[in-house]
Amino acid sequence: MGKATRRWLFADQLGDHFLDSPDQPVLLVEARSVLRRRRFHRQKAHLVLSALRHRAAELGDQAVFARTRTYGEALDRVKGELSVCQPTSHAALAFVSGLEGVAVLPARGFTTSQEDFAAWAAGRGRHRLLMEDFYREARRRLDVLMEGDEPVGGRWNFDADNREPPPPRGLGIPAPWCPEEDEIDAEVRRDLDRWERDGEVSFVGRDAPRAFPATRGEAAEALAHFVAHRLPAFGPHQDAMLSGDRVMAHSMLSPALNLGLLDPMECVRAAETAYRRGRAPLAGVEGYVRQLIGWRDYIWHLYWHLGPDYRDENLLAAHTPLPRWFAELDADAVEARCLSWALAQVRDHGFTHHIVRLMVLGNYALQRGFDPRQLSDWFHRCFVDGYDWVMTPNVVGMSQHADGGVLATKPYAASGAYINRMSDFCGECRYRPNRRTGDDACPYTTGYWSFIARNADRMAANPRMARSVYGMRKLADIDEVREHEAARGDAPP
Ligand SMILES: Cc1cc2nc3c(=O)[nH]c(=O)nc-3n(C[C@H](O)[C@H](O)[C@H](O)COP(=O)(O)OP(=O)(O)OC[C@H]3O[C@@H](n4cnc5c(N)ncnc54)[C@H](O)[C@@H]3O)c2cc1C
Ligand code: SF4
Repeated sequence: MGKATRRWLFADQLGDHFLDSPDQPVLLVEARSVLRRRRFHRQKAHLVLSALRHRAAELGDQAVFARTRTYGEALDRVKGELSVCQPTSHAALAFVSGLEGVAVLPARGFTTSQEDFAAWAAGRGRHRLLMEDFYREARRRLDVLMEGDEPVGGRWNFDADNREPPPPRGLGIPAPWCPEEDEIDAEVRRDLDRWERDGEVSFVGRDAPRAFPATRGEAAEALAHFVAHRLPAFGPHQDAMLSGDRVMAHSMLSPALNLGLLDPMECVRAAETAYRRGRAPLAGVEGYVRQLIGWRDYIWHLYWHLGPDYRDENLLAAHTPLPRWFAELDADAVEARCLSWALAQVRDHGFTHHIVRLMVLGNYALQRGFDPRQLSDWFHRCFVDGYDWVMTPNVVGMSQHADGGVLATKPYAASGAYINRMSDFCGECRYRPNRRTGDDACPYTTGYWSFIARNADRMAANPRMARSVYGMRKLADIDEVREHEAARGDAPP
């Protein structure tokens, strides 16, 4: 493919690493049909349009920037052959693969190639695709935090050091990096307001000043800020939640990574350099590197490996529709302090950190048997970093255990005791985390035992859950707990 071939960049392929040379001609498409199809978070629509328009402005005459109703209309505007790096969803790949004159190149923006993943996965059954094995292989291959053939510090995994509860006085680190909006953002805001007024599109969540990078320059600044100010504190409290600190020491870089504004390997090398220069401890740096070359790539490859039908897996037969208050991010309708806080984060920022997604939002949905496909769609639309490839395995597999344990060997179901240990939410909550019945019974605790009871046969067969099933069978009040939970129905807790 020569330099003159025009490169079609999707809105999540905006970095220079999606071009073969700095002066390669480009096609960028802003297709309004995408916004019409789904009810996205307002801040997500803003971020994606802002990033796309900033890229078009940067490229100037080098790019054809087609603002059309559909992709098809945009393609009619360009002449000659096109090339495109593998798009990030099954639907988009099928679409570009069916187009004449469009060459589909291997994916970019990930650290393990499809060939390397295929070689690793070959001969392993569906239930033996363990993240830890994948990660160690990637550490060796990419030579990250290695001393010869051995991991730096003699250990591959510092997870055990990274599960501390929150420090009572907070982390005491600087606030995350934040951009300043410009004229392009103002134009995006005007357009979104107008389209919404005209009834053309509709959004979920609240508008607010853009909080995530929309250009390569901003993304590089955000990365440098994270490495200098937050990475040193990243490790120990990775799983902790504090009502006064919405992101703890997390990087908040997933939106920039998923727009293609950062290459994951540059984040990894920046973190490794900080460790080697004595600026960040090994446990936290290993924890961060594991998220990127481990979890992020693992999720990406499983999305393709498990195929398009994976999104419909529902082994726990969970068919509860999302209640309206949950779907609409109505945090004020909820009294459970952790859940109200989490929903307010999504409503106001389109973002929460991992443990809030998994152990507050996902855990609530899992306990009540929310339909995994509907939940995936909700996460996809409501989170600024949500894309099909990353949401499907994270929600269907990791969070809802709807794949029967391909991604996670046990369901991430937990009672109020876990949330109490890992956060400061329970103190001022109207519920008590240790109560299973009664007016002040914690919905996560009743929900947990009801979930175990409902799925007892399946859980008893899982060695990591057998103790919970045994514990549930010993509860004299389990029927009362289940009745209490059933009486709530789909009302907000
Ligand atoms: C139910 C659920 C839904 C999720 N949805 C998304 C999503 O739509 N988009 C998304 O990027 N991540 C998603 N994740 C993974 C993870 O929660 C986010 O990547 C992370 O919270 C982003 O914040 P951060 O950049 O501050 O992360 P950090 O804690 O700073 O982590 C570093 C980086 O590692 C990567 N990463 C870590 N875990 C994962 C993972 N499980 N999957 C993919 N990448 C990972 C991200 O790129 C992240 O920026 C989801 C997790 C769950 C449980
Ligand atoms: S008591 Fe239960 S509902 Fe309230 S904050 Fe704690 S875990 Fe959440």
